[in-house]
Amino acid sequence: MKYYDIHTHQPSVHPEDIAVINFDPIRMKSEFLSEENQISLERNLFSCGIHPWYIENAEIQLKELKSLLFLPEIVAVGEAGFDKLAQTSLSVQQDIFFAQARLAEDCAKPLIIHCVKAWQEIIAAKKRIRPHVPWIIHGFRGNGELAVQLVNQGFYLSFGEYFNVEALQAVWPDRLLVETDDKQIDIRLVYTKLAEALSVDMELFTHQIEENIIGVGIK
Ligand SMILES: [Zn+2]
Repeated sequence: MKYYDIHTHQPSVHPEDIAVINFDPIRMKSEFLSEENQISLERNLFSCGIHPWYIENAEIQLKELKSLLFLPEIVAVGEAGFDKLAQTSLSVQQDIFFAQARLAEDCAKPLIIHCVKAWQEIIAAKKRIRPHVPWIIHGFRGNGELAVQLVNQGFYLSFGEYFNVEALQAVWPDRLLVETDDKQIDIRLVYTKLAEALSVDMELFTHQIEENIIGVGIK
């Protein structure tokens, strides 16, 4: 069985599991250029983007991002999004988000989204852009009602260690992805928790997640 971690900040516990490790474009560039990091880079997949908390020098960040996205190891753009708790104003966040959403369209790679307290904004953004690439909301911990609303708008939702069971049921089977994010935990543990919460056999669950990974174009 193959296990996929759609959003993490560190390599997987089991080297054979497939992790999409997230980097800021500036850091990604330095990792790719540094000799000692080449091995871990070869073994993993990556997402690269500008997080709403870390919009610093947006013009340079976007330029670096654009220069990296052709790399086959980078399989998704993000995490990008809206966060009402971030220092940066929502209008600047929106500009950076739209720029990244357009880059995701240009390179035909899915967009991984960080969204905090800005659900109407993210739904409005999707209606405005009408993307061809999948939009994946990572770390989803909202309720069932919100999950239904997002699935109806065509989003994928990625779940981690803690989640709302009704929301999980709303996205199962074909809109669900799995992640560890910044937790130093085994992705297999998250798989087990989700499969148990759904009362689904682990083999069936694992197979379905692989289908969904293919569905978002990562495999
Ligand atoms: Zn993250």
